Amino acid sequence: MIDLRSDTVTQPSQAMRRAMAEATVGDDGFGEDPTVRLLEAESAAAMGKEAALFFPSGTMANQAALHLHGRPGYEVMCEAQSHIVVHEMGAMAALNGMQPLPISSRGGRLDPQVLKQVLSARGDYQPPVALLAVENTHNMAGGRVSGLEELAALLELAEEFGLPTHLDGARIFNAACALDLPVSRVAEGFDSVMFCLTKGLGAPVGSMLCGGRSFIKRARRVRKMFGGGGHQIGVLAAAGLVALRDGPARLAEDHRLARRLADGLTNLPGIDLDPSAVVTNIVIFEVQSGEGTTPASDSKDAPASQFCDRLETIGVRAVPLSSRQVRMVTHRDLSSQDIDQAVSGMRSMHS
Ligand SMILES: *Cc1c(COP(=O)(O)O)cnc(C)c1O
Repeated sequence: MIDLRSDTVTQPSQAMRRAMAEATVGDDGFGEDPTVRLLEAESAAAMGKEAALFFPSGTMANQAALHLHGRPGYEVMCEAQSHIVVHEMGAMAALNGMQPLPISSRGGRLDPQVLKQVLSARGDYQPPVALLAVENTHNMAGGRVSGLEELAALLELAEEFGLPTHLDGARIFNAACALDLPVSRVAEGFDSVMFCLTKGLGAPVGSMLCGGRSFIKRARRVRKMFGGGGHQIGVLAAAGLVALRDGPARLAEDHRLARRLADGLTNLPGIDLDPSAVVTNIVIFEVQSGEGTTPASDSKDAPASQFCDRLETIGVRAVPLSSRQVRMVTHRDLSSQDIDQAVSGMRSMHS
């Protein structure tokens, strides 16, 4: 199977497995796991923040950050298709008592002018806004990258309205790679940053929340409250250290494979893809359907769902994102040959 469903499907490397087996560990509940401490120190340094905390998942780290920046009854200003809105099981409401203030965008690009209008029009009978959350790269927008100018405009606006800022940087290393900048520059100015060790970096588990020292101290309590405290988790952090140290260097190749895939898909009949939208490791395209109404996205009859079923029969896996949209993601367990084979398989599917 050529698995293009996500960059989370990678197998831990031999180096990771060895590091896990050999890790020096202690009880992280007492702050005594040296491998966890090392991962936290290196993560904070990479992001240019004072401190970092190891979490079991990106969802928990994001929600802990929202918990600390906000309070029940408040709103989280964010792009409408953000992971914190559409893929975290309603945790913003269920765990934090907050609701999104979703801002629609073109292709994941938050427009500071629109944000300004929304914030300026807030009255006394509307929920207060707790923070601005930004996602970079933006998953549902096809791995779109926000550059430094765009980020600076958003940060400036947040400052003007006194809002703290959180960056969902699940794939911030992909953004840094695409921008050819140190990752700390991409994280600069945000009060907190979450990044995943499990996406392109290839670890089996774990995400990091980075920020100021007192923020991270409080985040430890929230992580415990959310059930995410650990003990000899250095065995997991050891894999995370390999991911953090060796993972970023691979991402340019993932991006090259995504470009190769996008170029291959562009000319296939029945597929609607804007190749210029592919800038990191995510490729989202639409499949055309016949006449008539489009079934619901979760229906087995939806064109995207049927397309993915047919893909399975030629040994390729992808996920339907909506009734017509299909997502493919490149990662370290794929080669150029895999991409070429997937493209030629899809070409034959149509003939
Ligand atoms: C993967 C991802 C997360 C975190 O997901 P977990 O599976 O909970 O680790 C958060 N935000 C974005 C944009 C993601 O792609």
